[in-house]
Amino acid sequence: MKPLSLGDMTVQSVLENVAAAEAPGEMFPTAAAEDIARHMDWMAPTFYDPASEKLILAFQSFVVRTPRLNILIDTCVGEDKVRPWPQFHMKKWPWMGNLQTLGLTPEDIDVVMCTHLHPDHVGWNTQLRDGHWVPTFPNANYVFARDEYHYWEKENAQGSERIGLTFADSVLPVMEAGQATLVDHDHEIDTGIVLEPTPGHSPGHVVVNLASNGDSAVFTGDLMHHPVQVPEPQWSTCFCWDLEMSANTRTAFVDRYTDTETIILPVHFAGETAGRIVGGADKSMFAFLEG
Ligand SMILES: [Zn+2]
Repeated sequence: MKPLSLGDMTVQSVLENVAAAEAPGEMFPTAAAEDIARHMDWMAPTFYDPASEKLILAFQSFVVRTPRLNILIDTCVGEDKVRPWPQFHMKKWPWMGNLQTLGLTPEDIDVVMCTHLHPDHVGWNTQLRDGHWVPTFPNANYVFARDEYHYWEKENAQGSERIGLTFADSVLPVMEAGQATLVDHDHEIDTGIVLEPTPGHSPGHVVVNLASNGDSAVFTGDLMHHPVQVPEPQWSTCFCWDLEMSANTRTAFVDRYTDTETIILPVHFAGETAGRIVGGADKSMFAFLEG
């Protein structure tokens, strides 16, 4: 993604990986095969890989530089994490080098914000040092939505290994280091950077709104995973906690932003990532910014 200037703020991507991730029928369990087929023409090859017959997803973080703060939004899969999924398990990535290419070190990050606490959004929160998980960003305040934190805290306490590992190695060490703040889901991180509740994909999922000098953007986390969910907002993913709630939240979001100037920044959209939602005769579409 090309860097963006929005008012007196800038937005840059820190890419971890782009991968052919899931077959469309698995990713969108409620979508009919013939309805998926109608989108194949525009999806290949950037958003769908015909060879593997899988949808292509990006994994990236965003850095927002406000006049006061460097804010990191979502922290990808991370390194050295034991995970039940091979594509996330004990990985090494060029992510840290990509952060440094932007002229930033871990010490420069003032705030880390996770839209939700799934494994591919909290990974770089921590790093393995001398056998212990420690916060990667030593000077950062990590901001977690209170509802989301307590949901996963409870899951972890109940011994749900699938997610418990993630909470234990990527969230809890930050809390134990005294670097986490639990906030309401409409919290203002900095002037013009405000959370908004968007439950469904996870119980306490939030998006992050940016407004500066008349420009606006929304960091949508996993409100949407793939650009096909703009014309088909009713398609929730197999990763969603409550498919119906997720569909309702996403449909309202697409309606609200269709034919507005607001830049949409979805973590997992491949290609140029950033774009606007534009209305059509029948359905809205995602119009990517020029590369
Ligand atoms: Zn997620």
